[in-house]
Amino acid sequence: LIFVTRGPEPAALASARATELPKARRIAKRRPPRSDEITGYEVARDHLWRAQHYKCAYCEPPEQKDRNDAEHHRPKAEANRSPGSAATHGYWWLAWTWENLLFACRNCNQPPAKGVQFPLGPKSRALQPEQDPPGRERPLLLDPATENGVRFIEYKLATRPGTPTAQVWRPVARRGDLRGDTTIRVCKLDRPGLLDVYTQHVNANVWPRVDDLQKALGAADRTAIEVAFERARRELLYPAQSFVGLSFDALRHFVPDARLAPWGLRWKLFKP
Ligand SMILES: [Zn+2]
Repeated sequence: LIFVTRGPEPAALASARATELPKARRIAKRRPPRSDEITGYEVARDHLWRAQHYKCAYCEPPEQKDRNDAEHHRPKAEANRSPGSAATHGYWWLAWTWENLLFACRNCNQPPAKGVQFPLGPKSRALQPEQDPPGRERPLLLDPATENGVRFIEYKLATRPGTPTAQVWRPVARRGDLRGDTTIRVCKLDRPGLLDVYTQHVNANVWPRVDDLQKALGAADRTAIEVAFERARRELLYPAQSFVGLSFDALRHFVPDARLAPWGLRWKLFKP
């Protein structure tokens, strides 16, 4: 999950809302608006794509905007809120709300991944039409604009499913966190193709930085240690980079904080 800083709402979205929301309200007097009746929010896609450093909010690789979508965090036309609520109405009144929109790739935002899923936790009560979030909803899906995924999702070296020895990097819930676990499952952040991409990222981008740092630590060369450490942080942990959470965990796996402590250093994320 990336940490999304959207910035101000684009004027085009406000004007789409001014036109489209009253139409949806008229339909909603008779029945819930259908997906194909909820349009115009797509004007936000390019703004989100840039604000998200050209990455999918959920799985993080750089994505081209044209083949992907402006995604509704709370689904627009119908919603599966299991296990916390049996209500199935969509959040049509939030379809043009800047805070409810993200840029996401199709592998994450379409079935069999997220689709209409918006799982709620126990003691939730689904928002009713026109009600602002969060109300009494307790979403189990992390919101990348308000929560830093690194705190909830951890990457670990694991054996590749179906093979005896091959190792891959795979996301798991940090300290068993239910919301981290749900987000991995709903967005399929552990799909086989992504495990390959994660592992390739560590091999191609993290390893060279780890190698430099280990050499400098081996030589106990303070200047070289500081240079290698700063370069690793800048190239791997800066918020515009892909897979910051994965890089953070891989760096700490190969060069634990205890190894850096004698030099007054420890791995830290940049403030988003
Ligand atoms: Zn994605």
